[in-house]
Amino acid sequence: MGPAPGWRPGAGGGPEARPGQRRDPPRPMKPPLPQKICAACGRPFAWRRKWARDWEQVRFCSEACRSGRYAKAKEKHRKGA
Ligand SMILES: [Zn+2]
Repeated sequence: MGPAPGWRPGAGGGPEARPGQRRDPPRPMKPPLPQKICAACGRPFAWRRKWARDWEQVRFCSEACRSGRYAKAKEKHRKGA
């Protein structure tokens, strides 16, 4: 003797069975985000919301690259080798 067919744990009105909760509606195709090449590490990076205001001035992919930490770390690495 087992549970009745169709029985599932948590099907008795748990937090998952909230009425009015629907799946995300299908979204239309998004246009590709603009990309730039980071001036410090040379990697491509995509537009981010935080850069919405000054995307024209953005040159680095991250705070580390912007502050020059990336280049310094690379230099150190070479010196040590
Ligand atoms: Zn970078």
